[in-house]
Amino acid sequence: MKKNDVLMKIKSDIEELGNKAELVAVSKNHTYKEIEEVYDCGQKVFGENRVQEILEKFPEKLPEGMKLHLIGHLQTNKVSKVISKVNMIESVDSLKLAKKINDECKKNNTVMPILFEINTSGEESKTGYDEKTFFQELHKLMDLTNLDVRGFMTIGPLSDDEKKVRESFRQLVNIQLECRKLFPDQSFDTLSMGMSADYKIALEEGSTEIRVGTAIFGKRNYA
Ligand SMILES: *Cc1c(COP(=O)(O)O)cnc(C)c1O
Repeated sequence: MKKNDVLMKIKSDIEELGNKAELVAVSKNHTYKEIEEVYDCGQKVFGENRVQEILEKFPEKLPEGMKLHLIGHLQTNKVSKVISKVNMIESVDSLKLAKKINDECKKNNTVMPILFEINTSGEESKTGYDEKTFFQELHKLMDLTNLDVRGFMTIGPLSDDEKKVRESFRQLVNIQLECRKLFPDQSFDTLSMGMSADYKIALEEGSTEIRVGTAIFGKRNYA
């Protein structure tokens, strides 16, 4: 399928499920030329998971309206390099990292929109906070004034069992509800959940942002 048709298909899936979710086109391991092709179809937000790749691949000044979300694990020693390059960090998964981002933003007099990444699949290989640790650190996290906490991100389990996938997304919704109770002034609106294989399930469970790579760009070549 042509890029434009794929984007239209995903957009119509979003609408069909009665949802207003934002589409993040995950462009990791694809060239800037391929990204431009998708941008030219009207797609504005792109997701990348590695700092080095962001620094090497994108021009100093992004084209009009193009936005980058960091969706991969971030090491504290790379925070200062990436902070001015991205519009959101979706993968905040420790107090140490949150503090580092907060400190760098303070220095630059900026505020960074962030999501807390939660491991809802129980798969050890997956990154993200486990729920218990997250709630233990939550009050300290919410004290960091140069972070604009928008909500949560999760990666669903790699499974054909729809029930498991659904449960994982429901766990993220429950965490959102719990946080709203604890911090009534905060809306924690963003639920970033759903990828190429499971975005329809995620939308049904209330996702407000889907991160789609393969369905848009094709298979990634890691060679
Ligand atoms: C790679 C990646 C995606 C996109 O996955 P696809 O299966 O290619 O759609 C989404 N979220 C994160 C965090 C990723 O690393």
